Parts: sequence; structure tokens; C-alpha cells
Amino acid sequence: MQSTLLRRNIGIAAAVLALGLWFSSGRVTGAVAFGVKVDGSRVAVVLGRSEREVKQLVDSVCQRVVAEAASREGVPVTIMSQIEVEQLPRGEGVSAALEQGELERKIADLVRLGGQGWAIKVDDNPVVALRTEEEAKDVITEVQAVLGRAASANFDDAQVMISETRFKQRVEIEERAVPLSLFQDKETAKRILIRGTDRVAVHVVQRGQTLWDIARRHNLTVAQLRAANPQLKSDRLQIGDQLNVIDSEPLVTCQTQSLITYRASVPYPTQVVMDEDMWPWQVVVRQKGVPGVKQVTAEVVIENGREISRRIIEEEVLSDPVPQVEVHGAKQIPARGSGDFAWPVVGTITSGYGWRSSGYHHGVDIGCDIGTPVVAADSGVVTFSGYKAYYGEMVIIDHGQGKIVTVYGHLSRRLVSTGQAVEKGQVIGYSGRTGRATGPHLHFEVRVDGETVDPMRFYGD
Ligand SMILES: [Zn+2]
Repeated sequence: MQSTLLRRNIGIAAAVLALGLWFSSGRVTGAVAFGVKVDGSRVAVVLGRSEREVKQLVDSVCQRVVAEAASREGVPVTIMSQIEVEQLPRGEGVSAALEQGELERKIADLVRLGGQGWAIKVDDNPVVALRTEEEAKDVITEVQAVLGRAASANFDDAQVMISETRFKQRVEIEERAVPLSLFQDKETAKRILIRGTDRVAVHVVQRGQTLWDIARRHNLTVAQLRAANPQLKSDRLQIGDQLNVIDSEPLVTCQTQSLITYRASVPYPTQVVMDEDMWPWQVVVRQKGVPGVKQVTAEVVIENGREISRRIIEEEVLSDPVPQVEVHGAKQIPARGSGDFAWPVVGTITSGYGWRSSGYHHGVDIGCDIGTPVVAADSGVVTFSGYKAYYGEMVIIDHGQGKIVTVYGHLSRRLVSTGQAVEKGQVIGYSGRTGRATGPHLHFEVRVDGETVDPMRFYGD
């Protein structure tokens, strides 16, 4: 109860104080309240004798706000907001009336101030402003130079003959009033045009990526990347982790059109000579190919450092390529393997294909006396004839480009040599017990696509 009374008294005291302004300026009665509107909304109430008097008061307040901002910013300042004064119905708002100092603070806070300066406009939108025309022109020239240099970095070994750099957007300078917030120093203005507005995006971590890789990809430092991702407990990233990254969206696109010349290689042709003394899978390079060299003139378009098109205008061959000459074998292969196998040796099976106590048996053992003729199971080409551990004296016959191969081991004597064509049923050697053999027998294997299979699959009962 007491506090309400106290507040009311303070209210009355304030009103009396405000009224005091009039008493001192000669007005005794008839306090009238005026609303002050900034950009259409009422921000303050003041008391006055007439609308004219209040307008003058508001004007002088605005002039002080403008003068103060002008000296702070160093440019001519104007008020961009619309300020209106309206008389309120008699008796309304009197208790809310502000005194001049309060009104001045209110207006300084709420009014939009514009500075007279040189705005750089991109497609008619002022994006940044400078204090002098010279500064504004410098900013544009330097931005163009920076983006132009980024373009020339694309041409490592090329000679640039003509280059023309221009903005894709309409970039202009205009002397005008702009919001004070647009005023920047030259360096900041350049950065704003080149980097534009930052956009936060999400990067999903891929296999093998480190913080450093990701930062580099987005033109950030590792410290900036960490700052954007306070959730990161350590530098160890997991595939699929999501990181905030900041991508720049430049306000201007600088297009560089260049005429460049560079050297490029001309691939060599390959000439094939057939040789009937070599097998079809044999290739001998008789003369090594050497690429030629040509000089290329091209028109290249680069936007903000990224090549977007390259049109070849002229090509001049400086040195012709030297063709590669290859000799390919053309020797007739005897009838391809029929798949219908001949039994390789007269004898009986003593050990079958598959698991046995000594391990996996990759063939069948056919028991026979030493010196029994061993024949090719099918036509083909001998790809090996010689000695190998375990197999002893052995012959390998390919029945069709490595698809089906037969192997004959533990021979006492070989009658064929590597590279020789054999016919189905032709004697290729004699059985024996060379290599790891407990007694005289033929070890016979069939391999299909490089894997051994049970040879009995190729013989009927
Ligand atoms: Zn065997």
C-alpha cells in the first residue's frame, strides 16, 4: 500500500518536472501530448504548445544525433528513417511524456542513419560502402586482380597471350546514402566481395579424412574448424561423423577469358606385324613408340579460379609420333582341345583325387611300369616341359588359352619341349618315378581355370 503511494508520488513528481519546461517557457496551462513516430511506430510522447514547436524540438534532437554520428563515422550522415509528429487526444499520454534528453537517446537508438559515401553495388544492391570514390575504385580493381591471379594459377606450363577479366554481375560505384553498417575499410570490403556471406554446411567424414584435409577442402584453418565443432572431443574422426563447415559464397563472380598456348603430347599409333613362327599369345616390340608433341592454342574461361570451358582453336604438330611396331605371333594352333580326353597311360588307378592321409591329392595316380608311353589327353600346346620339385620330370599341356590344362608328373623321360604343339594321343614321354614318388606311376592332373578338378570327370565309366 505504501509502495504504491510512493510510486504514484514519483509519477506526479515527474509530470510536474515535465510541466516545469512549459512554466519556464511561459505556458501556464493546457499541456498537450504529441506522439513521435519513427518509421510508422510511436516511440515516444513529448509535451508541447503546438505541433510546430514539437517538430522543431524533434528536428533539433535529430540534428544533434546526426552531428554526433557524422563525427564518429567521418562521413556526412543523414536520417534514413521517416519521422512524424502527431497530436494525441487531450489528456492522453501526458504521464508517459519524455524529457528532451530521454527523447534524444530514444531517437539515437531507433532511427536509421545513412552515411553519404561510395557504395559498391552488385546487381543494384549496395553490398559495401567506402568513404571516398578512390577507395571504392581501388577495392574493385584489387578484387579483380586477386580473382584474376587465381585464374592464372590454372595455367602451369601454358603461355597466356590475351586475358580479359570481368565480373559476371553488374558491379558499380554510386555516391549515395547507405546504412552506416555498410561502411567498411578497404581490406574488409575486399574480403566481403571475395568471400561473400558465410554459409554453414555439414560435412560427412569419409574414410581416411583428417581434420586437416577437411579444413583444407573448405578453405578453413584447423582452429576455425574446431571452433565450429565444439562437440569434437579429440582429433580422431570416425567415418560418418558430421562436422559443421563454413563455405563461402562470393558476392561476385570474376570471369577470366584467356587465349593460351601450351604443348601437349600426340599419342603414337601401333603397327602390328604378324609372324608365323611365334605363338598367337607371344608379342615382341620391335620398335618402341614415342609420343609426338603439338602446340595447342585454346580459349579458356575461368570463373573464380575454376576452369569452366576450354575451346581448342588451333593445333600445330611440332614433332610427329614414332609408331610402335609390334610383332604378333600367327603360328597355327593344332586343333583346339576337344574336351574328349584320351586316357594318358595304360595302367590302373592306385590313388584317387582329393583328401588322403598325406594331404590333398590334386590328381590321380595311375600305376604302370617305368617306360610305359604317356600320351597327350587332348590336343594343345606344351607350356612347360622340365623338372619341378614333387612332380619330377613333368609336362604341362594347355588345351585352349589356359582354360583347360593337363599335367603329367614323375616321368622318366620327356619327348616334347615348351612351346610345341601336340595332338591328342601323341606320345609326350615315358612314365617313371622321378620327384616325390613311392613307386613307378603317372601323376595326372586336370586344371580348369587354374584350379585342379577330379580328372575322372572327363572320362566315362
Ligand atoms: Zn599323384
